Amino acid sequence: MTTEREIAMPERTILLNPGPVVIDRRVRDALALPDMCHREPEFSELMTRVRDKLTLVCGGDISYTSVVFTGSGTAALEATISSVVPDSGKLLILSNGHYGERLQKIARIHKLNHATIDAGWAAPLELSKIDAYLRDHNDVTLIAMVHHETSTGMLNPVHQVGEVASRYGCSLIVDAISSLAGEILDIRGDSIDWCVGTANKCIEGVPGVSFVCAPRKKLDELASIPARTMYLSIYSQYAAEDRDKAPPFTPAVQTFFALDTALDLLLDEGVGARCKRYRNLALQARAGLEKIGLRLLLPPELRSNTLTAIYLPPGMDYRTLHDELRRFGFVIYAGQDTLKQKAFRIANMGQITTAEMDAFLSAMEQTLAKSSAARVQSR
Ligand SMILES: *Cc1c(COP(=O)(O)O)cnc(C)c1O
Repeated sequence: MTTEREIAMPERTILLNPGPVVIDRRVRDALALPDMCHREPEFSELMTRVRDKLTLVCGGDISYTSVVFTGSGTAALEATISSVVPDSGKLLILSNGHYGERLQKIARIHKLNHATIDAGWAAPLELSKIDAYLRDHNDVTLIAMVHHETSTGMLNPVHQVGEVASRYGCSLIVDAISSLAGEILDIRGDSIDWCVGTANKCIEGVPGVSFVCAPRKKLDELASIPARTMYLSIYSQYAAEDRDKAPPFTPAVQTFFALDTALDLLLDEGVGARCKRYRNLALQARAGLEKIGLRLLLPPELRSNTLTAIYLPPGMDYRTLHDELRRFGFVIYAGQDTLKQKAFRIANMGQITTAEMDAFLSAMEQTLAKSSAARVQSR
């Protein structure tokens, strides 16, 4: 058992939410670089550098490139889904949580021809069902899925879905927003055509830039699909960034500075090494939480490297737990939708040390001990 005296509480606020994350000081310092006009060569170079590094992180070679957007992850996601499904095509959405539902919402808003296989919250996607659906519906041309379903902490089998998609000649759109740089993902090896990510989760940048990485050939083919939105059109964004070497609209310039630095730090650390660092932190957190007596939502084989959903301790509501832990300097995250009353989440993305994770576990233990003492007293 650990006590308050043995473990030092952190000096800084530790974000255990799935982005924005605790960032490296060098990333924060990059925000204060000198003012820059986005139509000058310096910005062209910065943007191109960032696009190239993002492609590298996704595992793309020179036949791939990335298109960057100013906006949170959902901006690049909506841009992708609304840009790549032609009127003659049909999108199959695989859903098993909040972010799968978001894919459906986007498809509905843009009136895309689509269907959904909904496994239900926290239920694994079944490959045999996907295969059977594609066998019976040969009008499906694209599949969309979430790699890491952040609402439950479940890692979905992107490689296997990629194999099925290839077998049926379908393109694959992957929401890799919370998995890229936190889970092993290889745009080529996993047969992904559209890989969507964001700056402020496992890449450890600041919020404001999101992106999609894709084969150039697929990007060029978008010329034949009329834009459904003006601002979030992948093709026009790609044409401006690639041909004119300038974004069509004012970008979040300072966020690009920070992202450039965050990508250097990521590539220095190595994507594989970062995944392993996160994995170890998650294992440390899970072992500690279970030792205190908390129960985790998912069985071990379905858990991601970066997020753990935990049942709320009996007799304690989320707000109380959140506020108590906040006093120790830790920000935890609520359950979403159907899990709101039942579970909470902690993420371990970002610059969190093992000592800080130990301090969190100690804060949790003290919070639970205090609440059960309070319950005993009030009997
Ligand atoms: C965070 C996240 C998003 C995007 O959220 P934004 O708030 O728009 O950045 C989308 N999908 C998944 C799986 C996520 O974790």
